[in-house]
Amino acid sequence: MKLYSTLDRKVVEIEPIKSGEISMYNCGPTVYSRMHVGNIRAYVSWDVLHRALLYLGYKVNRVMNFTDVGHMTEDEDFGEDKIERAASQTGKDPLDISNQYIKTVLEDFHNLNILSPSGDKVDPNWEVNQLHNYGWLRATSYVEQMIGKIKEMEAKGYTYETGLAVYFDITKIEDYTIFTGQNLDEKNIASREDVEVDPEKKNPADFVLWMKRAGKYANHLMHWESPWGDGFPGWHIECSAMGIEKLGEHFDIHTGGVDHISVHHPNERAQNIGACGHPVVKYWIHNEFIVDSDDGKLSKSKGGALTLPELISQGYDPLDLRYLFVSVNYRVQLRFSKEALDGARNARLKIFNKVLSLKESSNSHGNVLPEYRVRFEKALNDNLNMSEAFAILNDLLKSNNKSEDILATVYDFDRVLGFNLENIQKEEESLPLEVQSLLEERRKAREEKNFLESDRIRDLISEKGYKVLDTPQGQTIEKV
Ligand code: AMP
Ligand code: ZN
Repeated sequence: MKLYSTLDRKVVEIEPIKSGEISMYNCGPTVYSRMHVGNIRAYVSWDVLHRALLYLGYKVNRVMNFTDVGHMTEDEDFGEDKIERAASQTGKDPLDISNQYIKTVLEDFHNLNILSPSGDKVDPNWEVNQLHNYGWLRATSYVEQMIGKIKEMEAKGYTYETGLAVYFDITKIEDYTIFTGQNLDEKNIASREDVEVDPEKKNPADFVLWMKRAGKYANHLMHWESPWGDGFPGWHIECSAMGIEKLGEHFDIHTGGVDHISVHHPNERAQNIGACGHPVVKYWIHNEFIVDSDDGKLSKSKGGALTLPELISQGYDPLDLRYLFVSVNYRVQLRFSKEALDGARNARLKIFNKVLSLKESSNSHGNVLPEYRVRFEKALNDNLNMSEAFAILNDLLKSNNKSEDILATVYDFDRVLGFNLENIQKEEESLPLEVQSLLEERRKAREEKNFLESDRIRDLISEKGYKVLDTPQGQTIEKV
């Protein structure tokens, strides 16, 4: 299989360390808020990669973390811990915050047919403390391993300690800027602010391995004993420690969004070299971003950083979003808009309706059509060329083959596409636009706790022949 390797700066043939097997680590969500469509794009991308590898006959050994400590706002060393900030804003315990949002990851994965890292269908009722059975690693459960890794780096001379923190000395890694080619002076200028906080820091771009419970963090709620005093781990060390713990000192693929190319992944790579004496990861693979209509960062105010329940309440099916993300290559930057999502919805419904009519005209089991399978495999092998994969699917659906054989082939493709096509049922046509906008107004009214208004809108919707139900995942709507 070929994939785009960021360090090679080109599409390369993936040569697994162990023949026929792929070991893969995915940088996982920071569980301080619900995932937005950008995060979802990342996890749909790696779901497709996982499914494609299985389809192509590889054994996949995959893990993903939940970041529940140490990830600072703006990804800076001396920002605010995102989990602790959410805890103080809501008056909750940090553990309750991360548990709450881990559950929403399960719900979203379930609704989007994203498999767990272990390759299982996700049950939203899985116990949070059992998720290690499904390939999820929670950072706060691996602090001991993180301390172990920092000790190894310290013994080999890669670290130094100040009154506030233990740092990784990036000048010890000759090719530290390998990911971006940026020169170190520019990088140092970009990270100058942290030096003002800790004057003992040697280079602005050095990064924290262990933060002491001192200074700004004297009252940090999450803290552990360590050889450098009471404190908590930096963000980057969690991925190195957990990756090596679960996948060993050499593994095949490490993924993340393109935002990780400049800081998080160079730091992880530096730590790996510091602890093990060699780079651990063979291929670094990155997904492009979902951006707002003006190519900027996703933001709520511009209507971009939406969550799955928000989209459901606007009348979309989670699989509309899945279609939007599955049908393009992970390296294509996508502009998020209602129009794009409507287009995905229409394309998805066309496929679903065709599959339903094939089901009606089939009375026996068919056989997978080899010529289509070969073409589909070729598209996957070609750096996950998903637009080609969908073109093949559409050719197949239009072909004159026996309905049974077309269906058998579509179900075979669906192992990668993940629409659960064997179990779909007839859907209502799209919601009329006016009902969609009423639903959105009602969602806002409920968010503002204006229940009089939300009841008024419910009645308007009901006059148009639809019934709104309120569920823990948000509003749902059905035709009456
Ligand atoms: P976070 O929860 O911020 O740690 O992000 C989880 C994952 O989502 C990371 O792998 C990010 O690189 C990725 N990500 C964040 N924002 C976007 C976006 N707008 N588009 C695509 N991926 C994103
Ligand atoms: Zn990571």
